Amino acid sequence: MTGVDVLDTPVAELADAVDRARTGSAFLRAKLGDVPVRSAEDFAGLPFTTKHELRETPFLDYAALPAERIVRIHSSSGTTGRRTICAYSAKDLDDWAEMFARCYSFAGVTEADRVQLMVGYGMWTAGVGFQAGAERLGAMTVPSGPGNTDLQLELMREAGTTVFGATSSFALLIAELVEREGLRDELSLRVGVIGSERWGDATRRRIESGLGIETFDIYGMTELWGPGTGIECSLHDGMHVWSDHYHVEIVDPETLEPVPHGTPGEVVVTTLTKEATPLVRYRTRDLSFRYAEPCPCGSPYPRIGRIEGRSDDQVKVRGVIFLPAQVDTVLAEVEGAGSEFQAHVDRDESGRDSLTIRVEGGDRQGLAAELAERFQAQIGIRVDVDLVPMGTLPRNAGKTKRVFDHRDL
Ligand SMILES: [Zn+2]
Repeated sequence: MTGVDVLDTPVAELADAVDRARTGSAFLRAKLGDVPVRSAEDFAGLPFTTKHELRETPFLDYAALPAERIVRIHSSSGTTGRRTICAYSAKDLDDWAEMFARCYSFAGVTEADRVQLMVGYGMWTAGVGFQAGAERLGAMTVPSGPGNTDLQLELMREAGTTVFGATSSFALLIAELVEREGLRDELSLRVGVIGSERWGDATRRRIESGLGIETFDIYGMTELWGPGTGIECSLHDGMHVWSDHYHVEIVDPETLEPVPHGTPGEVVVTTLTKEATPLVRYRTRDLSFRYAEPCPCGSPYPRIGRIEGRSDDQVKVRGVIFLPAQVDTVLAEVEGAGSEFQAHVDRDESGRDSLTIRVEGGDRQGLAAELAERFQAQIGIRVDVDLVPMGTLPRNAGKTKRVFDHRDL
């Protein structure tokens, strides 16, 4: 069974999940046929499901339950194309609240906390997911939604907010505002649960020091119920994934072969309990790795590394693969550099590609030159650095675009 990872999930359980999915779903039945899953090899022989397939298939053709048993739908934000609709049974919503409550517990949140949810509501999965989990835990929720920093701070003071949920860029915006206006002592914040986009250690340190809090990286996406698939524990070394609901594989995004623990690759997920829109070997596009060792915290849930990027975020410049996470690594290590950046890829008339990284920074002598040198070492090609003053790059309540590919490919 070399390379096939079934450590977390017994084959019988995987076989059950696959059978339930294809019995109910016309799409999965046609895709997977009726080949039985009796071994890890059988499972590894099943085709992957792609984002494209989910997007192009009407959700009721994909769903494994009749419409009468579906109680809600959500859709992904559609930042990379058409939106994907995912459906939920009553039990799916119940399981989600339970998983999310578990996430909060891992972050040390209790019923005594007051949880402000500065995340998107509506068709987005973030708002209701964060809220259902906090309510299941018995905490007080403040469903403020994203945006409007002044109102957020007012509510934090009024409600005595101790915990918030936000994207990293919105948390950064709040942290910078609190720091600038010296408001920290008026607030009671102690924990931030940060989800829905990749964020580096430099951003994390700025959020934590600006607000005087501990932050927890939470994992998930609409197709996997929403946020709440897993979260860091207090050791902050990778994210625990709820293996009673998800079977996780890591594969090489080009060959689609499984990679050994510790090696980065694409996260592939099979849901074990989801009723309405189950996933079989779903390619998430997220890049991460599996930890080989159990976590010293003692939790039996396996860990994956914090998300390093998305396989569709990576761009090739002069033959070298560039990932935004590489910029984060450098910014976390260079004194005087900010955490916000944009990467611009251009092609000149002679067909030569260039990579410019626009980064916020202080006015320390030699900062731009040092950054250029470190980027080149990290990425492997020459990088032009465009240093701009702190606070001048956009911060969004939702996802922040980092890579701008201006080439006509
Ligand atoms: Zn742990």
